[in-house]
Amino acid sequence: MLAILASVLAVAALGAACGGDNVSDTSGQVKVTATLGLFRDLVQQVGGDRVQVSTLVPDGTDVHTYEPPPSQIVKLSQAKLVVMNGLNLEAALEGTIRENASSSATVLELAAGLPTLEDNPHLWLDVNNGMTYVERIRDALVSIDPAAADIYHANSEGYLAQLRTLDQEVTAAVESIPSENRKLVTFHDAYPYLAQGYGLQIVGFVVQSAGSEPSAQEVADLTNAIRDQHVPAVFKEPQFSARILELAADDAGVQVCFLYSDAFSDEVKSYVDLMRFNARELARCLGGSSG
Ligand SMILES: [Zn+2]
Repeated sequence: MLAILASVLAVAALGAACGGDNVSDTSGQVKVTATLGLFRDLVQQVGGDRVQVSTLVPDGTDVHTYEPPPSQIVKLSQAKLVVMNGLNLEAALEGTIRENASSSATVLELAAGLPTLEDNPHLWLDVNNGMTYVERIRDALVSIDPAAADIYHANSEGYLAQLRTLDQEVTAAVESIPSENRKLVTFHDAYPYLAQGYGLQIVGFVVQSAGSEPSAQEVADLTNAIRDQHVPAVFKEPQFSARILELAADDAGVQVCFLYSDAFSDEVKSYVDLMRFNARELARCLGGSSG
């Protein structure tokens, strides 16, 4: 804490004209490294032109198992702010972050101290938690770069208003689904906050933790649960091979749809797009109206 304060004071004393320190480049931007594209988007929404954000995990890649190449580690070491989720989401990255982040950098764990469901890290899939992430990013940027505090406050206010509307959209989409159809079968265990926040029931998932393989018995049990509980559709995620889920869906005679969780794709490149896609896909595949 003292080190962070000291570095903030030192930066303030140096002033913008000196440049050359590791806080900002010649354009005056604050260098930020985010673990996921999702958090890069949130930082850019709050920081706008004041920040330059790199990402450790490429879009479309599984965060739970990814280890970054040296080129990404150089950017990490230059960052003044490192934004991660915590709660073991970045289990494969955490050592790299601790070893390579600058000693003067702030490491912001977005989920730290928030109420969790069985220590599951995917809090942002409830938009209310996404809003808390945005507030934490705003506060971190304000303390690192107080000269631009007004910009960070104005940007985050506008973005939080968008997220309140987004939250209402997701709520309305789920409410349009017949209550007996509000059931989730997914590839990995990413959706307890979506389920709790918007009133869906988790019937099951293929793998307990990413990187692990389900047994034949577990796949058979999931197939039976899909059939017995009359689940209308199952949901694959773009960053995972869906073969097992597709086989289970085929056996149970239900369709396979898409839900996003940790990773972006070529079509979905922002948090708002991700949640909006999920809301529409839930309504479309579980028998609601897609608004
Ligand atoms: Zn995940």
